[in-house]
Amino acid sequence: MKRLLYLASLIIIFMIFIHGVFKINNSSYGCDNHILKNSTEKPIIRKPMIFIHDVSPIYLNDLKDIIKIINKYGYQNRTYLFVIVNHANKYNIEKYPKFVKYLHYLEKEGYHIEYHGYNHIGYEFNCSKTVAEEKLNKSFKILENCGFDIKKIKYFIPPRYKISKAAEEVFLNRNITIILDKYMLKKENNSIKKIVINNKEYTWYLPKNCVKSVELLAKIDYISSKHQFCLSIHPKAVNYGGGLEFLNYFLNMTKQLKSQDQS
Ligand SMILES: [Zn+2]
Repeated sequence: MKRLLYLASLIIIFMIFIHGVFKINNSSYGCDNHILKNSTEKPIIRKPMIFIHDVSPIYLNDLKDIIKIINKYGYQNRTYLFVIVNHANKYNIEKYPKFVKYLHYLEKEGYHIEYHGYNHIGYEFNCSKTVAEEKLNKSFKILENCGFDIKKIKYFIPPRYKISKAAEEVFLNRNITIILDKYMLKKENNSIKKIVINNKEYTWYLPKNCVKSVELLAKIDYISSKHQFCLSIHPKAVNYGGGLEFLNYFLNMTKQLKSQDQS
């Protein structure tokens, strides 16, 4: 067992090293090098955006533990809650008043209520325009019935980052920005703008003994990022093992670096 752990640590350290080298190469010579005028110019450090995926009544307790850490660092205004309105066709938020009340409380505290899906089954927005319209209308009706102002919804993450061109149009026509794993799509002055982002997730059931290595990796990613840095987290997955310890580290680290923020 000890030998196995030792081997796993060696592999992680090696991966971090390779990752670091790759990052350094990328920042000087990669496809984005036009953003940096010369290799000595420092990448811009922006405040991260925190995306909480799968906000659903089944994860209420997990969500509360995540929120405690975000509050500690005052990241309420930088945190976006992506709600599933009828998760697995079982958890219609209208039937969970305690959950809805909690989301309203969070919204008052500065958190943003955003949209993630109707039932989150499969690639639900890899669909026709008609189906996308139907799902979105049904979802927004549920959100309105729960007292949310749908005009405030500005962002949408499609389940599993999968969306058809037809469904993209539906969201963009309603001035909702679509967030994917590597970029955002936004409608501006009748044209579609593609904004590159650095959207990372480190806490998919992160074992406790890997926290330190992943913290180092995230710091390298964050500091070398030339685009808006976005931290994606999933309730339950982040609550496992060393996930919350990582979240605490990450928010603290980015807060310390905030003074260098140029955005
Ligand atoms: Zn999801």
